[in-house]
Formats: sequence, C-alpha cells, structure tokens
Amino acid sequence: MFYLKNHGALIYNVSDAIGVPHGFSTRAGGVSTQEYLASMNFTTSTGDSEANVAENYRIFLSALGLEPDSRVSAHQIHSARVRYVTEADRGRVFDDYDGFVTDRPGVTLIVKTADCVPILLADAEAGVIAAVHAGWRGTVGGIAPNAVSEMLRLGASLANVRVAVGACIHDCCFEVQGDFVDAVTALRGAEFADAHIRRKGSARYADLVGMNCALLTEAGITPSQIDVAADCTCCAPFLYHSHRATKGKRGTMAAAIGIV
Ligand SMILES: [Zn+2]
Repeated sequence: MFYLKNHGALIYNVSDAIGVPHGFSTRAGGVSTQEYLASMNFTTSTGDSEANVAENYRIFLSALGLEPDSRVSAHQIHSARVRYVTEADRGRVFDDYDGFVTDRPGVTLIVKTADCVPILLADAEAGVIAAVHAGWRGTVGGIAPNAVSEMLRLGASLANVRVAVGACIHDCCFEVQGDFVDAVTALRGAEFADAHIRRKGSARYADLVGMNCALLTEAGITPSQIDVAADCTCCAPFLYHSHRATKGKRGTMAAAIGIV
C-alpha cells in the first residue's frame, strides 16, 4: 500500500511493500520558487538552478535517510536500458540509461518522472535494488522485466522481489493516437495493445501501469508482489509535476531507493 509521509514541509509517497529506504517525491517541500517548478523539482532543463536542484536533493534524500552525495542518476532517454552501478558511480549522471540496479550499500538510485512511470524494486533480504523510469517506449521495450533480470543476476530471488509503481499518468488522462497504437502493436502484438489501450468514443487511452504489471507478471512476478500508487499525476497537478497537464511547462519528480 502507498501512503503519503511528511517531514516538515516535505511530502512524499512511500510503499509499505519495499522494505528498504525509498520515496517518491511530490511537488511539496523544496526550495524551487517559480510557480510551475514549486517547490520540489529535480531538473535544470526547464529553468531551475543547479543550486536549487542540489538543495532539493539534500532535503528529499536526507528525509529518507539516504546520503545526498550517494545518488546516481541519468539524462533519461526513454530506453529500456538498465545499468549496474556501484559506489564508484556515486555522483555520476549517466547519458544512455533509464534504470539502475545495485547490490551495494551506500548507493542511491534515482529516476525522474513527470507522468512517466517510476518503478522501484527491492529484494530486501538479498540486498538487491533497482529503479526504473518507464516512459511508454521503455515500458513496451520491457525496462521493468529487464530490471528484474538484472536483480536475479545479482542474487535476488524472484519470490522475494517487491515492486512499487509510483504515481504516474493513468488511463483516465493518457490519450494516445494511432501511431502509438501501431508502435505498441508492432512491439508487443495486437492482443497486448488491445488489453492495455481502451477506447472511449473515437479516442484511445493507454494504461502504462497495466502494461508494466503485465510484463512483470510475464517475468514471474506475481500481482501480489506489485504495489501500485492510485494517484494519476495528470489528475492532480497541484500535488505532482505532470507534463501533459501543463503542456511541458513543469518540474520533475524523483524516486529514490538505497540500501544503507
Ligand atoms: Zn488522470
């Protein structure tokens, strides 16, 4: 189950399934001042300063009990690529990945979203964790099951993996066009596309959460191992940064996980 926690002015979501320090930020509790960034923002690409973003990381990660300088992140590219990282990578910002996996304590994995699906995974017993930014391309490309495979390679056991799917755009708001349907059909087949893209009149709406859950289930994760946040970011742009709700004039949220 997901629930909101606060630490002073900071408000973030946690899942009771994961069993290791983690959190999904909201818009609340940071130092960014422009209205569309305020106040917790993790990107400099829409007009915020490096200093504000660094301070936001300090506030958010400290509240989670994670060391701000231990973070590893990426200029995400909507791929399905997951990178293994260690303490040698602390502080790095990678170019060509949308997910991270580690079995090392003291390494904080960060993914950033503003409608895309943030997914945190952990086998707390084995001490193996992963974080994934699943845009629709990454989702359909299988970034979530890719993260699970990497975790198993590092000694996680399939039965002990727990998955938390954070707030993201849901099928109430994620209207898609024919080219999207064609691309999903080409990559995963018509049955998959039909199952996760619903029609409402002439419009079509895609269910990214359902797609990720289906691909995780195919990879051997049972639905009971997956915890899904109920919130749609696009329905609640006062609480979450939403690309679609703001037509791109927005900040970015972070999901963080680490073993201490
Ligand atoms: Zn919605």
